[in-house]
Amino acid sequence: MFIKEITFECYKNTQYAAVEKAINNYFDMLRYNGQILGREFPIAMFEAWFVSSLVCPEENSLNDIFNSPQVKQALQGLTEAGLLSPKIKNIAEDLNSLCCAEKFQPSWQLLYTTFLDTCSPLRCGESLAPIPLYRTPEAISNGDRKAILKWQEEWINCDELQMNGSAVSSVALKEIGEIGSRLFYRGTNLCERIEEITKVPTYYYLYRVAGNSLIAEQERKCPACGGDWKLAAPLFDIFDFKCEPCKLLSNISWDFKK
Ligand SMILES: [Zn+2]
Repeated sequence: MFIKEITFECYKNTQYAAVEKAINNYFDMLRYNGQILGREFPIAMFEAWFVSSLVCPEENSLNDIFNSPQVKQALQGLTEAGLLSPKIKNIAEDLNSLCCAEKFQPSWQLLYTTFLDTCSPLRCGESLAPIPLYRTPEAISNGDRKAILKWQEEWINCDELQMNGSAVSSVALKEIGEIGSRLFYRGTNLCERIEEITKVPTYYYLYRVAGNSLIAEQERKCPACGGDWKLAAPLFDIFDFKCEPCKLLSNISWDFKK
């Protein structure tokens, strides 16, 4: 991932509120297209210009060729608010985040996230490295990739709720771990859509915790087809199960995993 500094300069007298709105809208649209990562973007205010730092998946993530219709419209909004085209400066590579996948068309891929992630939940099946969302040959829905990010946000919210043992932890756990949940339905629909446009088999991950014993966990069958899905060896130290016909992945309950 790469850190960028972005500067917005006023070309005419303008209202602070209009500028703030236009810049934040531009950042939201970039985020919903996967071109910038994270959710908080402090904006430093100077006399007639504004500066912010952004994290991008690739060095060229902010290249115009990746812009969604919404990003293009947001750029127009900057002009209307009295700002010149943003100036972008490369700062450095980010030590704190994962490197992008080397291949954007691997032999298989998966939708996978954890509560710590800010990176793309579309991961290369060969390396588990994130694939930038704007790299899909077409938008996912309504012109950009927002639907995937909304799925990811909700997945992370559920994971945090179940980890904290909150009052709604069993509902949250169902959402991320069971077929038939709303999040499963949305996630597997996204996988189908991504597979259709990328032509790469796209798997969905089912989280697993609790259970009765290690043996019972090892004998667990695919919840969708009831078939054997245990892998000979764990994949990336996370996945113990993979059902090819159902395109599902899961793990031996984290309570029993060594
Ligand atoms: Zn299955």
